Amino acid sequence: MINYKEYKTILSAKNNMNIYRGCTHGCIYCDSRSEIYGMTYTFENIEVKTNAVELLDEALSKKRKKCMITTGAMTDPYIPLEKELKNTRKCLEVIEKHEFGVSLLTKSDLVLRDIDILGRINKKSKCVVQMTITTYDEELCKILEPNVCTTKRRFEVLMEMHNAGIPTVVWLTPILPFINDNEENILRILDCCKQAKVTGLLTFGIGMTLRYGNREYYFKNLEEYFPELKKEYMKKYGSSYGIKSPNSQKLTRIIKKFCKNNDVIYGEKEVFKFCTLFAEQNNQLSIFDGDQ
Ligand code: SF4
Repeated sequence: MINYKEYKTILSAKNNMNIYRGCTHGCIYCDSRSEIYGMTYTFENIEVKTNAVELLDEALSKKRKKCMITTGAMTDPYIPLEKELKNTRKCLEVIEKHEFGVSLLTKSDLVLRDIDILGRINKKSKCVVQMTITTYDEELCKILEPNVCTTKRRFEVLMEMHNAGIPTVVWLTPILPFINDNEENILRILDCCKQAKVTGLLTFGIGMTLRYGNREYYFKNLEEYFPELKKEYMKKYGSSYGIKSPNSQKLTRIIKKFCKNNDVIYGEKEVFKFCTLFAEQNNQLSIFDGDQ
């Protein structure tokens, strides 16, 4: 079922947008399912913001200063429905028209459809393509993130973006205790990051979040695919919101060392700074510093 809704605004105060609400990729750990986000319908029943493109056009035409527009934090902008609706593509056209930059986060290879516009935006200002990668093992990946392309394909996308001159970032998160929080998984992903020449990498700590709404969904999946683990989680973490892998420190050390040795920007603060710093603003800082 698809819900259609007209909105009054599309951009947040920090220039982030969600073109859809809800997601059909089915990741078993999805934090966006948490009740605090106030979804009033089933998460898979996508809400289409019917006037998203017009709202973005209007918002960007009123902005005095160019900046990066970000998307993908709450909903993947390349859900399967996008193939037909092309709302993300139309928003990218608006961003290109107004000569803003864009930084988007996805798990889907559908982003390759828009590599032409992304490349042009990157030439005029700046584009960053970010991908979430959690699991090297393809079979495990299909359990954790069942309805979207697997890690192997996502790295192919990152390589294509790099070959097109577009910088990329990997979100190595969430790392699920006792499931993908092992050294082999992390090392293999880091090796692929090296081959794909990613610009940045972040982890949000080595762990995951469990809140009302996503906890129930996650535990239901644990029962189905890892029946022995549900008890283990309840014993170790109770009802904690942010849970860390017991291997957190060791894996963090490995990731930090990799980033340092390979000139990869590491960590949320630095990566977000990179993703939100508009190229033209960067060049003009000395001339317009302080000008709002
Ligand atoms: S892609 Fe993101 S929003 Fe979609 S199900 Fe997975 S974690 Fe949730």
